[in-house]
Amino acid sequence: MKSSEIRSSFIDFFAERGHRHVPSAPLVPHGDPTLLFTNAGMVQFKNYFLGVETPPAPRAVSVQKCLRVSGKHNDLENVGPSPRHHTFFEMLGNFSFGDYFKEEAIRYGWELVTGRWGLDPAHLFASVFREDDDAFELWRKISGLPAERIQRRGEDDNFWAMGDTGPCGPCSEIFVDLSPGEPDVGWDEGTDSGRYLEIWNLVFMQFERDEGGAMKPLPAPSVDTGAGLERVAAVLQGVGSNYDTDLFRPILAAAAELAGVRYGGGSGNDSGAGDSDVALRVIADHLRAVAFLLADGVIPGNEGRGYVLRRILRRAVRHGMRLGFEEPFLHRLLPVVGETVGEAYPELAATRDASTATVRAEEEKFLATIAAGARQVQEEIEQARRAGASELAGTAAFRLYDTYGLPLEVIREIAEEERFTIDEAGFAEALESQRERSRRATESGQKRLLALARALTTGGELEPTPFEGYRRLEGEARVLRLAAETPGGGAGAVDCLATGEEGVAVLDRTVFYAESGGQVGDSGSITWDGGRARVLDTQKDTAGTIFHLLRVEEGTLARGAEVALAVDAERRRATERHHTATHLLHAALRAELGRGVRQAGSLVAPDRLRFDFTHDRPLSAEERRKIEDEVNRRVLDAVDTVIVAGRDRGEALAAGAMALFGEKYGDTVRTVEVPGFSLELCGGCHVANTGEIGPFTIVAERGIASGVRRIEALTGEAALERARARDAALGAVEEALGVPGERAVEEIAALRRRLKETEDELAKARLALVAGGTAGAAEGESEVDGVKVLAREVPAAPANELRHMADTLRGRLGSGVVVIGAREDGKVTLIAAVTDDLTARVKAGALVRELAPIVGGGGGGRADFAQAGGKEPERLAELLAAVPEAVRGQLAGLPAAR
Ligand code: ATP
Ligand code: MG
Repeated sequence: MKSSEIRSSFIDFFAERGHRHVPSAPLVPHGDPTLLFTNAGMVQFKNYFLGVETPPAPRAVSVQKCLRVSGKHNDLENVGPSPRHHTFFEMLGNFSFGDYFKEEAIRYGWELVTGRWGLDPAHLFASVFREDDDAFELWRKISGLPAERIQRRGEDDNFWAMGDTGPCGPCSEIFVDLSPGEPDVGWDEGTDSGRYLEIWNLVFMQFERDEGGAMKPLPAPSVDTGAGLERVAAVLQGVGSNYDTDLFRPILAAAAELAGVRYGGGSGNDSGAGDSDVALRVIADHLRAVAFLLADGVIPGNEGRGYVLRRILRRAVRHGMRLGFEEPFLHRLLPVVGETVGEAYPELAATRDASTATVRAEEEKFLATIAAGARQVQEEIEQARRAGASELAGTAAFRLYDTYGLPLEVIREIAEEERFTIDEAGFAEALESQRERSRRATESGQKRLLALARALTTGGELEPTPFEGYRRLEGEARVLRLAAETPGGGAGAVDCLATGEEGVAVLDRTVFYAESGGQVGDSGSITWDGGRARVLDTQKDTAGTIFHLLRVEEGTLARGAEVALAVDAERRRATERHHTATHLLHAALRAELGRGVRQAGSLVAPDRLRFDFTHDRPLSAEERRKIEDEVNRRVLDAVDTVIVAGRDRGEALAAGAMALFGEKYGDTVRTVEVPGFSLELCGGCHVANTGEIGPFTIVAERGIASGVRRIEALTGEAALERARARDAALGAVEEALGVPGERAVEEIAALRRRLKETEDELAKARLALVAGGTAGAAEGESEVDGVKVLAREVPAAPANELRHMADTLRGRLGSGVVVIGAREDGKVTLIAAVTDDLTARVKAGALVRELAPIVGGGGGGRADFAQAGGKEPERLAELLAAVPEAVRGQLAGLPAAR
C-alpha cells in the first residue's frame, strides 16, 4: 500500500464511521505560546477536550503534521540511528469529544489494522495501563488476542496527561512483530530492539487531575489516538525501517547520488556502511522538517522557532560534510520532498522556490562560519602546542563555539586531525555557566518584571496608573506597592527594597512610558530623601497598572515614600523620533504601494525601528528610494505634529484615522497627526515637530512570512552613525584598491577575473607537470602482482585540484592504483584512487587508512576514491615507498593494518 493510500484509507475508514475530516493544523500552533510546535494530532483540538470550546462535530479524523524536537517530546538525537523516530512525521488520528469511548476506540483500531490494512492478528500485540481492567477485557473480547499478548504496563508507558493538572487517562497501544518467524523474546528486549514496533497509541481521557494530584472522573470521557504514518507504511510495505518506505526512498536516493555514495549497501563504501547511512538518514529526515517548517512560515533565526529550524538545518549540513559535501547541497534536494508528499501538502509546492533560496542562503552562511571558525581553531591549537599541550582547554573550545558559532563537533573533528583532544568537561562547564548567565539576563528583563507584577495583582487587579509623561519627563509620585523575589524563587509584595535589591514598584502616577504599541518601555531614575534607584524597564498590564522594574542603588525605598521621577531623556527623545518616523513610513508605504498595505507589527526603540506590513513581493530599489524620500520630505518640511486625546472613536475613524488591525480601542481615543500626511490612533510618544527626526534611512527590507515584509530603518543619530561607519569602510576600500569609490566594484570584478585566470593557468600547469606528456610519466610507477601502481609526490594544490590530478592519473593507467601526496605548510594531503575493475580487491579507503599514520595522520573514504591528511611532510617519501607493499597486502587479502 502506498503511503498516499494509507492516508486515504485511514480518513475514509473513520469518515464512514461518522468522523468529520479536519485538515492538518500548521506546525506552528495557534494561540498556544507554551508549545513551540504541534507535536500530536490532538493539539488543535485541545480546547474541545478542556471544555473551553464546543467542537463542531463530536467525532473527528485527521492526518496531522508533527514535529518532535523540543520540550516533552524531543526525538532529535534519536534521528539517524533509529529506524522509527523522526523529527517531522505525520500522525493519523481519530478523536471522540465526549462521544464514544474505550470500546469503540479499540474496535475501530482493531478493525482497521486487521481488516482494511490486512495485518495478521497473530503478529499483533496490545498494551494497556496496569490498572485498566476495562481495556484489558475489551481487547480480549474484541480482538480475541490471548492474554499473554496483551501487556499491562506502568504509568511511564501507558498513562497520558496533558500537563501536571487537567485531563489525563490510561492509554493502550498496538504493536506489530516485525520478525514473526523468529521465536518470541521478552517484552523489553522486543520493544527496545524495535522488533515489536509501536504503531498506534489510543488515549482514553478519563480523569481530571487537580493541583493536589487528586483525580476525579471527567463528565464526558474522550478519545485521542495517534498512529505514525511512516511506521504504518514500513509495516504495510513489508520493510524493516521507515527509511525504506516510499516516503523516504526518493529523498535518500537523491541525496546518495549527489554525495556519490550508496544508501543501505556496504559496497562502494568500506568505511563501515552504517556511518554514511546514518548521515543520509539524518539529511533526509531533517530536510523534510526544514521544508515543512519553511512552508508554515517559520524563518531561520537566533531564537525560538527560528532557532530550532536553523539548528535542524545546520545539523543536516554537518552530516552532509561527513559525506564529503563542501558546497551547499541541501537546497538542491528540497524539491524532492515535494515529490514524496507534495500531493497531500500543496503548501510545499507553493513555497518551494522561496524555501530553496532560504536554505541555500543559510547553507552558505553556515559554511562560511565554519571556514572562518576552522582557521581560528587551528590557531588556538598551534598556540596550545607551542605551550607544550596536547589538549585544547575547555574555555578555549567554548570561546570558539560562542564567538564563531562553531559546533562542538566541528571543533572536535579539527582537533582530532591535529591529534589534539578537547577538555570536554571544561567545555560543558563553560557552556552551563553561560546558560545560567543568559537565563538570569533574560529573567531580569521583561519576564521577571511580569512575574513580579503578577505577585502584586493576585487577589484583584490594581487601579490603572495615570500617565503624565507625554510632554514632561520629570515628575513626582508616591510609592503605592512594591514587590520582590522571595528566596524560594517566587515573588511577593514587600514593604521596602534595600540597597542592591531589585523589585517592582507601582506609583500613584508616573512619567515613565510603559511598553505598548511597539514602543519600548522607558528607563531612568527615581530619587527620594536619602536614596536613589535606577528604573530598568517599564511595563503595564491589561488593566493599565504601570510597573517599574528597578534596582535600588542607595538607601531604602519604602512603601508610601514620596519620590522624584526622571526619565532618561536622550533615550526617550531618540525613541520618539523613531515612533513618529514609523507613522511617516506607514503613510509613505500606503501612498506608494496602495491602500492594501496594512501594518502587521512594529518595534519602536531608541536605536532603530522595525515595521512589518502586508505586501506580496519585495520592494524594488525604486520603490524603496521613493518611500525613503517621501519620509525625508516630511522631515524637511518640519511640520508640527497634532496630538489630540479624548477624541470620539467614531469621529476619529470618520476623519480617516488609521486603526491597527486586531487592536482593541475604547470609545475615546488618542490620535497622532502629521497634518496633510498621516493620521493614526496611537497612545505612544512623538516629536513635536517632524524636523526633530533628522535623517531617515531604510537599512533592510525583507520577507518574514508569506505576504509579510519587514522594513528596518534608522533616524537621527543612529542614522548618522551608520552613514559615518559606511563612509569609513568605503574609504578603507578606496585606499586598499587605489581607486575612487565609484570605481571600486569594477576594480574588484577585474581583480577577481585576473585571479581566476591565474588560478586556472596554474592548475593547468600543475596538471601538465604531473600527468601531461610522457616526461617523467614512469616516475613512481611499479607493478605489484600484475597490478599497475603509481605512487608519486605532486606539487601543492587545492584539494579539489589534487582530486582531479588523481582522477586524471587513474584514467591514464586504465587499470591500476594511484596514490599521490602533496606537501604544504607542514601538512600532507594524500589521495588514493583505484580503477573500478580493481575495487573488489584493492580499496582506496583501506589503503589511506593504512598509509596515513606514516605521516602522522588519518583518513578514509570509498573503495574507489579516498583522501587523508597528515602532519609530518618529511615522511612523505617513506609513505610513497610503502605503497606497493600495502597494495600487495590487500591483493593477498591480508587485513589492513590499523
Ligand atoms: P515511542 O515510544 O516509539 O517514541 P511515543 O510513545 O513517543 O513513541 P506517541 O507519543 O504515543 O509515541 O505517538 C503516537 C504515535 O506516533 C506512535 O505510536 C508512533 O507511531 C508515532 N510516533 C511517535 N513519535 C514518533 C517519531 N519521533 N517519529 C515517527 N513517528 C512517531
Ligand atoms: Mg517518543
